[in-house]
Formats: sequence, structure tokens, C-alpha cells
Amino acid sequence: MKRPSCQPLAAEWLTRGGLNDNFAAMNEPLSSLRMRAERDGKHISGAERLVPFEQLQDVTIEMVQRALRHTRGQAEQINISVEPIDKADLQFGRLPDLHNNTVQSWQQGRELAAGMLASYGVAQQAVDQAMESLASGAASNGQSMRGAMLIDADSGERLESDPDRGVRVSRMDLSSAAREQLQVQLAAQGLANDHVVEALILAAKVVSAPTLIAELCWSDDPDYLAGYVASSAGGYQRINVLKPFGEERGGRAFFIRCSKDQLGALVNWLERQPFLIERIGRVHPPRQWKDEA
Ligand code: AMP
Repeated sequence: MKRPSCQPLAAEWLTRGGLNDNFAAMNEPLSSLRMRAERDGKHISGAERLVPFEQLQDVTIEMVQRALRHTRGQAEQINISVEPIDKADLQFGRLPDLHNNTVQSWQQGRELAAGMLASYGVAQQAVDQAMESLASGAASNGQSMRGAMLIDADSGERLESDPDRGVRVSRMDLSSAAREQLQVQLAAQGLANDHVVEALILAAKVVSAPTLIAELCWSDDPDYLAGYVASSAGGYQRINVLKPFGEERGGRAFFIRCSKDQLGALVNWLERQPFLIERIGRVHPPRQWKDEA
């Protein structure tokens, strides 16, 4: 894939010239496997993987099972897409370090997230716009979007072309070796669940885009209250509570500083560039917010 002008410089420090701990050793093809599930026209769940041919069947079955057992309801319509990836197009990445912040309430969690975003250079009005949209349902029908909002980090203007779909980051995954190492690290902190693993993978790709200042996320699963702020400078800042129990409105905001004529290239990179993560970051123990105060 040709690198667009607004596209991350990440390859400079992330790429290891095609050295790859497990995929390159295999001659079998690698596929992008994507799942999206709906019920009554409502987005239920989605998943993105890069899978060697020998795992394609098993991972597809896992994805379908997940869509059928989701806490947001049983999917009625499941779309699975499988596409070949040209290994010459792969960029290689590293997971951000995970910091595990503990707060007492979702209000405190949002205050902490807002402070972090400000410290990464996101203007107050952009933080307010993102939080308000996520809290009230960022899609035009007041529900969660299928993808992420693109928010101008200075003006707070929403820049995604389709406010219901948003931007869906895709074609990224961990190598098998990195996935195993991560599971060990996360298990030691009681965090070995799909939410954390998938969010770390997504955030790794997102924060490697230089025009992307930071990401804010909280889940749309009614019983998963945690979320995070991610940035290249601060890593992945998990916050244990960012919304009230039972809340189905969630989503992602990508804060960007990118001219409008570069937007297309950024979106194309986020959605289409194959990105394989071979190295994990550190997983820090929990810290109570305001403990240091
Ligand atoms: P989840 O972390 O799966 O609970 O997703 C929370 C929200 O993040 C969803 O409601 C979507 O708005 C958004 N989202 C989920 N997957 C993606 C993705 N691959 N790219 C961008 N946004 C996503």
C-alpha cells in the first residue's frame, strides 16, 4: 500500500524491515478477517483480526459465537469478511504501555480523562464536544456509532463524513507470540479479557498516526464500564469507570490535527493499512487516582 502524505511516520521506528516473529516464517497467506453484527438495525458488536490461513476457520467460529452471545443482545445479522493481505504491505507496530487508573465513580473517571486529554494538547471545547457526544449517543439516532468520531483537536468540530458509521479502524492484530506474552502480563493484573486486548491493539494503530493527538473510548457494552485515553506520549491510560452501569451509549473519539485535504489519507490508513503488532508494552499495576495528591 502506498503511504499517503498524512500517514504515520510510525513505520520509521516501528518497522523492523519485514522481520517478523511468526507470520513471515510462514509461507501461508494472511487474511484480514472482519465481523460486524446487528440486531434491529442496531450495531451489536464487531471484531478485526489478521489471521494466518490455518487459523481462519477457528477464529471465524469464535467471532460468530461472540456475536450470538453478546451482552447487547443476540445478533440477527452477522457480516463476515475475509480478504487477502499482501505481506509486503504490512507495517509493524508495538503496543503502548498500559497504565491502570482506579477512580471511585464515572464522574471522577471523566474528570481524569478530560485532564489527560488537556495535558496532551486537546482544547477544552474539543474534549467537551467529544464527551457530550459519547454520553448522548454520537450517531444521528442517539445511539452508539459503529466506528469512531474524528474530532478537530482545536475547534471540536466533527470531521467524519458519515456520523453513523464513523471511521472503523481495521486490518490490525497482534502476532501470535505477542498475544501469548500479553495474556501473561494482563493475567498478572487481572485484566486478561477481550475488551482490553482488542482495545490495546486498536489504540496501538491509532496512536501511531502522527496527526492523531489522542483517543478517548468507553464501551457500548452495558456491563463494561471501563474505558481509556490513549496517546503516543502517555500510552494507554485505562480508567476503570467511565460510565454508569447499564449505559449502552459508548464510542470512540479520535482527536486530530490534520488539514481537511489530508483527512482522506488518514482515514484510508486507519481503515485499510495492514498493521501487525509484534512487541508488547509494559503493563503497570493499578494506581488510585489522586493517591499522589
Ligand atoms: P467496544 O470497545 O467494542 O465496546 O466499542 C465501543 C465503541 O467504539 C463502539 O460503539 C464504536 O463506536 C467504536 N468502535 C468499535 N470498534 C471500532 C473500530 N474498529 N474502529 C473505530 N471505532 C470502533
